[in-house]
Amino acid sequence: MAVKTQIFELETRHDGEIIDITKNVQQALTSSGLKNGILLVFVPGATGAITTIEYEPGLLHDFPDALDRLIPKDIAYEHHLRWQDGNGHSHVRASFLGPGLNVPFSESKLMLGTWQQIVFLELDNKGRHREIIVQLIGE
Ligand code: ZN
Repeated sequence: MAVKTQIFELETRHDGEIIDITKNVQQALTSSGLKNGILLVFVPGATGAITTIEYEPGLLHDFPDALDRLIPKDIAYEHHLRWQDGNGHSHVRASFLGPGLNVPFSESKLMLGTWQQIVFLELDNKGRHREIIVQLIGE
């Protein structure tokens, strides 16, 4: 059993951007040399999130729409009143979605569904430089 850590970087452009990182995660798995086990994809940051989605144009529209309905931007946030950074909605959305995802792998392949992609969501109110950690446990 071994533990390996890989990091890749993203340059995001705007609030609500959804980036398919499945290939980046598969690349991290391939580079690790591990064949069977489990990995964690994790963003160190309080205004980004990682989940899965079927990466197709309809859902890339529907998912941000759902976030707007559930956690609107245009309401008062104590965070914004305190820090004047305008991203109270970003923090609340990130906490609901979570900063990480576990994925099992077998024979050096991610065990994802056919239509299931791993995505990073930029939830901050501006583009950011992001480092994404992939930590793998396996053999
Ligand atoms: Zn803030």
